[in-house]
Amino acid sequence: MIDYKMKIRKGDNVLVILGKDRGKSGLVERVVRENGKVVVTSVQTAKKHVKPGKKYPSGGIVEIQMPIPASNVMLICPSCGKSTRVGMDRSKERALRICVKCKKSVQTEVIK
Ligand SMILES: [Zn+2]
Repeated sequence: MIDYKMKIRKGDNVLVILGKDRGKSGLVERVVRENGKVVVTSVQTAKKHVKPGKKYPSGGIVEIQMPIPASNVMLICPSCGKSTRVGMDRSKERALRICVKCKKSVQTEVIK
């Protein structure tokens, strides 16, 4: 299994910079480390036809969210509000993610 060095984490507010949802922003709901993809709220929805079952008692068409490559999104810095690349500050014991624009560390609350 390839372990992508993912700088985007669950709970990050991100801006989509590539693909059909370019310009949209949303929260990262899930990070798929195996293929370097992320699921972003209200981005890349696809309609899927489902048979009635436990999950969808009435069946029909549901909207599902597709993972998009993490390289298609940029972090929106919580400190300066700009879309930014994520840098690493390795001067501390634990490497911290930092915004390359304002140099403030980016700590994200983990959604449970
Ligand atoms: Zn910043």
